[in-house]
Amino acid sequence: MKTLQNSIGGKWENSQSASVRDLVNPATEEVIARYPGGSADDVDRAVDAAVAAQPGWAELPVAQRVEYLTRWATEIAAHAEELAALECREMGKPVALGRTFIDGSVQGFRAAAEEALSYPFAETLPGADGGATTILRHPLGATAVITPWNFPVPMVLGALGPLLASGNTVVVKPSERSPLSTARLFELSPLPAGVVNLVLGDARAGAPLVEHDQIRLVHFTGSVEAGRRIGAGTGGRLCRSILELGGKDPVVVDADVDPVATAAAVAFGAFVNTGQICTSMERIYVHRDIAEEFVDALVDAASTYALGDGHDAGTVLGPLVDARQRDIVHRHVTDAVGRGARVRIGGEIPERKGFFYPATVLTDVDDSMLVMTEETFGPIAPVVVVSSFEEALERASSSRFALGATVYTHNADHAAAAATIPAGVTWINQWQGGGPERLYEPAGDSGMGATGARAAYDAATRPATIHTAPATASTLS
Ligand code: NAD
Repeated sequence: MKTLQNSIGGKWENSQSASVRDLVNPATEEVIARYPGGSADDVDRAVDAAVAAQPGWAELPVAQRVEYLTRWATEIAAHAEELAALECREMGKPVALGRTFIDGSVQGFRAAAEEALSYPFAETLPGADGGATTILRHPLGATAVITPWNFPVPMVLGALGPLLASGNTVVVKPSERSPLSTARLFELSPLPAGVVNLVLGDARAGAPLVEHDQIRLVHFTGSVEAGRRIGAGTGGRLCRSILELGGKDPVVVDADVDPVATAAAVAFGAFVNTGQICTSMERIYVHRDIAEEFVDALVDAASTYALGDGHDAGTVLGPLVDARQRDIVHRHVTDAVGRGARVRIGGEIPERKGFFYPATVLTDVDDSMLVMTEETFGPIAPVVVVSSFEEALERASSSRFALGATVYTHNADHAAAAATIPAGVTWINQWQGGGPERLYEPAGDSGMGATGARAAYDAATRPATIHTAPATASTLS
């Protein structure tokens, strides 16, 4: 069976790591590839390649860098179906769903790259003293992108556009649970050698990459636990980091909305991608006036989420990524039931091959249960009935996470009050709304570092000011 290789300095090469792991298809439990565990030697070689390529890449005119990235985007778009099928094999996502997200991420990658054409890399302003002030935004140098497995291709593309268009080079370390699709992305790259490099493996590759003294920025997306370690590592050596971590997003359902239509929207927010989205709806607060109708409709909607292999057209709910993730999800459900929650649908591990878990609705839930305090990352919809919108808002706001939030209401005052939820992004009446203009920074345990829109360019560059004195100024003053 094939062992996947690293892509370093434009060449495919074997890892120096002695350890090799099996990659398992979560729908069939079959081994589909092998990947290296990762090593510091691999990281050193990849960072050397990124450092060597960086000056030449930064010297290219911006338009030429954007053209390279646009060519890459065109190649990726042409292979979107194949990439979605690889994602399905490695982490279970239904192919059609994967395709939708890959198409969206290619558009985002293109738009983010094109943003470079109007970004002020060099801007001269008249100084207050009659002189001139020029602000240059330099690339940082060699950078690192470390990604999770829940959206393998979109996560890599989402981070790369502004970093590369700004003149940085990158070492990508994808999740060890989804290396296939990222490796294929690299095969499609037309970029000059060393501009993007791929190192495979788990934390044995990730940790030395974070610690490497030539890496000037780490863009990390993943768990809170790993994010804390990475923040400590980059902080210790004063390296910039963007940490996009976990969530426990609330959704508030007000008394004045259509309970059936809103339940369908909430089912989608809780179950799509088998609940493995950082901004999945994981805590549901519904007003008591519509609670019964809402829960009945949510259970009906859950019953339509058909389990299966993501290659089959009828599948809505693929498997969880692996047995470990399924154990976490089932532990949360068991904990809730043990403390008095009621399972309205789902809640049991099906007897079949694959790491499947059904769409599950829980009621009689309280805020102390694991399913309300820890990120579940599975297809679980825990419902809490509240007496007022104000109570819902207060409970929605009391979490150590602060990533996203959604509020369904027709009341303008309530919609305005939704802005008090401490989240990086709050959606009103449309989960996941907004496009490239979305600009946000998570708070609390959900991470730090603003991304989206121009903030991604600000993060990818270092501003420096050159001030030229007015012609009349004394050289000694
Ligand atoms: P994870 O933290 O286990 O792994 C993420 C990546 O970090 C992997 O590539 C892994 O190999 C690497 N890694 C792990 N330990 C490391 C270390 N000490 N040093 C360097 N690298 C290390 O997370 P996961 O299970 O792959 O992904 C799921 C998590 O990602 C969830 O918590 C989810 O909410 C989060 N996530 C967040 C966002 C966001 O935008 N905020 C988006 C997607 C996923």
